[in-house]
Amino acid sequence: MSAFVGKYADELIKTAKYIATPGKGILAADESTGTIGKRLASINVENIESNRQTLRELLFTSPNAFHFLSGVILFEETLYQKTSDGKPFVELLSENGVVPGIKVDKGVVEIAGTNGETTTQGFDSLGSRCQQYYKVGARFAKWRAVLKIGLSEPSELAIQQNAQGLARYAIICQENGLVPIVEPEILTDGSHDIKKCAAVTEAVLAAVYKALNDHHVLLEGTLLKPNMVTPGSDSPKVTPEVVAEYTVAALLRTVPPAVPGIVFLSGGQSEEEATLNLDAMNKLQVLKPWTLSFSFGRALQQSTLKTWAGKKENVDKAQEAFLARCKANSEATLGRYAGGSAGGLASENLFVKGYKY
Ligand code: 13P
Repeated sequence: MSAFVGKYADELIKTAKYIATPGKGILAADESTGTIGKRLASINVENIESNRQTLRELLFTSPNAFHFLSGVILFEETLYQKTSDGKPFVELLSENGVVPGIKVDKGVVEIAGTNGETTTQGFDSLGSRCQQYYKVGARFAKWRAVLKIGLSEPSELAIQQNAQGLARYAIICQENGLVPIVEPEILTDGSHDIKKCAAVTEAVLAAVYKALNDHHVLLEGTLLKPNMVTPGSDSPKVTPEVVAEYTVAALLRTVPPAVPGIVFLSGGQSEEEATLNLDAMNKLQVLKPWTLSFSFGRALQQSTLKTWAGKKENVDKAQEAFLARCKANSEATLGRYAGGSAGGLASENLFVKGYKY
């Protein structure tokens, strides 16, 4: 079995390795127009292009935040947007050592005959879209597959469909110069315990890496974006140390050392909870062959969004909140986070049942 060795191979390896630099992580700011609309509605801001641009500019011009970031995932609209001074966002990011990424999936649809399980759409013209995104300056991509835990879920059909989809997406990205972030998210919805989440995570990741190998994906030029292993949302919480133990064990059993970095999604955890869990993983005294970092959406933006509240006079304070989360998560990638870096807002539970990103 041979991995992809096209003209971009060296660049893919270099980009993936750079994004996985310890001390740095990814800001997921790729909310689709519908999703960002929900966020803006929560602070009574209208979902129009200028407001979406203002929020993204607030994030991307936060003083010193880029020091803690190696990548930002953008939605297509944002890829072409500029700062109010007229500088393309992509240029601003690249100049500051932050690799621009792009969400390339088109959301999920139900798999017929299943209990609400889904597969991800977006293969139409994926190759030419990737080519175009590369031309504009994107160097990595994201595709989110979603699985759920139930009495009979995830079904073998959903596991295989999503693994094949992620692998096909990944190789199309690599053929066009983009490092694929492979994201098989297992939702936290449910009353299952942490052992069940661990077993499902291991089964899903094993299927994903089998598919990636079958599709000749160059693992050195990829990143994995998994869920952390936790009890279901309707079960009692466990300590960060327990989350860390189960999560790292699941990853050690399934993710090849050829993968340079694992960048977690936050999946409805509070900002502080996500940071503490990441920190506990990096404090664990076991050999970890990959960098363990973050690619948080909600857990990097929530207190910033609330502090901003759509008001110009709050921008400085909101940027301070964003910097605090970036710095805390950077420390967590090194296992050096002392906790409590922000007030009440950072502890707010962000879980939403049946959440659609
Ligand atoms: P959350 O960190 O809010 O789960 O989102 C990350 C993401 O990009 C999901 O695809």
